[in-house]
Amino acid sequence: MTMLEYLKELLIAPRANCMGCGNVKGCERDWLCADCYARLAPLYMRNAARAEICAECGETYTGGVCGVCGRRKPETFVAAAPYEYDDVIRAMVREFKFHGVWRMSPWMADEMRRALDNAGIRDFTLITPVPLHFTRRFERGYNQSEKLALELSALTGVRCENVLRRMRATRRQALLSAAERRENLKDVFMALRPLDGETVLLVDDVRTTGTTCVRCAHALKEAGAQNVRIVTFACAVGYTSAFRKYRPDRGTKLQKIEKDPF
Ligand SMILES: [Zn+2]
Ligand SMILES: [Zn+2]
Repeated sequence: MTMLEYLKELLIAPRANCMGCGNVKGCERDWLCADCYARLAPLYMRNAARAEICAECGETYTGGVCGVCGRRKPETFVAAAPYEYDDVIRAMVREFKFHGVWRMSPWMADEMRRALDNAGIRDFTLITPVPLHFTRRFERGYNQSEKLALELSALTGVRCENVLRRMRATRRQALLSAAERRENLKDVFMALRPLDGETVLLVDDVRTTGTTCVRCAHALKEAGAQNVRIVTFACAVGYTSAFRKYRPDRGTKLQKIEKDPF
């Protein structure tokens, strides 16, 4: 944490609003009220933190034919996440991501570590975050995924290094269809050095359709990485099938996800 960040935290920290529901009456843990805290249901408690995602489209994959891209028995990547992307988690991630509320990050990373344990992912030799394009990083002043990657590195003792670069700024994924997402991210990520023999743990805050994660994973593999594992704080379980079912103009719950500027 830099001095500026520390000062910012110091100034922002005293607010007692719950980041889950906005409730101003006392927070159990400094960021969530007792009600929201009680509603947290980590996937690892249900032994469900592990997912196989289609390496072609990023959709959670259960076998046979991928329901989204139509690939038969596609290559998959193993991904883990401690939480589903529900209302409380979405509100927390928004504070974390867009308002620079860092005091949650050690807890978030610890939850991610539990998800990794639950998913049986322990073989990574290098941790790297999903990169932001430098213009967006400049606008925001930080990369939220890098914060989580560094915390995870401290927890696991595995080194963290920014080995990916985002070659150009891209349209916000949330506004695009699944096919447009794949096109939008084509050739966007590139590894900065050879990664021969490494098993890389890719870190992001949220996995919605999984497209960003699989595009990064391919870039890592192209650079010689032996394996790529993925961990995010939240994942939108079944997001893509829900996306196909509902249209954002019908005012369904998906509209909220649609409007999130990812
Ligand atoms: Zn609350
Ligand atoms: Zn697929």
